[in-house]
Amino acid sequence: MGILPYSAAVDKWNAKKAFSYALSRRLAASDDETLLKRAETMKTCANTTSHAYCTECGTLVLDRVWLCRDRLCPVCAWRLSLHRFAAMCHVFDHLCATSEDGTIQVAMLTLTIRNVNADKLRETINAMQAGLRLMTKRRAWVRWVDGWARSTEVTYSSKQKNMHPHIHVLLHFKPGYDKHIAQHEFTEMWQACLGIDYKPIVDIRRCYERTPTTTEFWKRTLGVALEGLKYATKPASLKAMPDPVLFEYARQLARLRLVAYGGSIKQGLKVLGLTKHAEESGESGTEGAMIAECPKCASAALVNVILEWSEAGGEYFLRSM
Ligand SMILES: [Zn+2]
Ligand SMILES: [Zn+2]
Repeated sequence: MGILPYSAAVDKWNAKKAFSYALSRRLAASDDETLLKRAETMKTCANTTSHAYCTECGTLVLDRVWLCRDRLCPVCAWRLSLHRFAAMCHVFDHLCATSEDGTIQVAMLTLTIRNVNADKLRETINAMQAGLRLMTKRRAWVRWVDGWARSTEVTYSSKQKNMHPHIHVLLHFKPGYDKHIAQHEFTEMWQACLGIDYKPIVDIRRCYERTPTTTEFWKRTLGVALEGLKYATKPASLKAMPDPVLFEYARQLARLRLVAYGGSIKQGLKVLGLTKHAEESGESGTEGAMIAECPKCASAALVNVILEWSEAGGEYFLRSM
């Protein structure tokens, strides 16, 4: 890949696209009409990517790509995670700037349930998301939680050969919050809202407390927190699923709304005009924007670089200019 500029960026595209291509091949082996169609679309995802290359500093910036936006697609999951991360950073900046003392408190709450078989995923996730809706109406929640961002994730247990659905919820607390809701209270609320007869595993950890002097630390810890909101299913889990499980998983999760926002975070996204960037669109389409100058060094000395995916080569090649 030596002839390509900024090969680190190209390596990333190569890895995501190769994985997406492999997944589309697996789906293409199913006998389900809908999955075959999805496989066909996913196969063409990001086949051509157009970038602006800065001849001054070597930055490579995407300016146009066609994406399949299938929930299973690793290319699309990666693109969405970048946008979502950026959107959340802006929202937290905004919440900080508009708070009384320039401080916000955020924690990551993880809500789980016992593992289920793949064919029970849809009803289980629906029940969990309904449970969370009930939880947001609880007195303690209403008193202390100002906003939230939830992301439902499914991991595959190779050992038990079943699914582990769980919900990550980023909580933005109201001013003055000081661990007013204890871990066991979160657990009790979750159990009651789910209506189950066992104690579910619930984890709550403070992500960060941002003050005007801790910006750097804040950025780092936010990154860690947002890791949890990144994927519906991590690449390793998708790889570990045997084909029949993968097919069932793909069917069960179709059109479920796995990401949602509430309160101050939802409002912040709206005010900043970022709602669209933070949610799955589900519709295939293009991503990108005209780039007039390098976002890194502001140089206008840009050349257009077009990369084309080669099925045979298993990587992108530079289209001759
Ligand atoms: Zn530059
Ligand atoms: Zn895609």
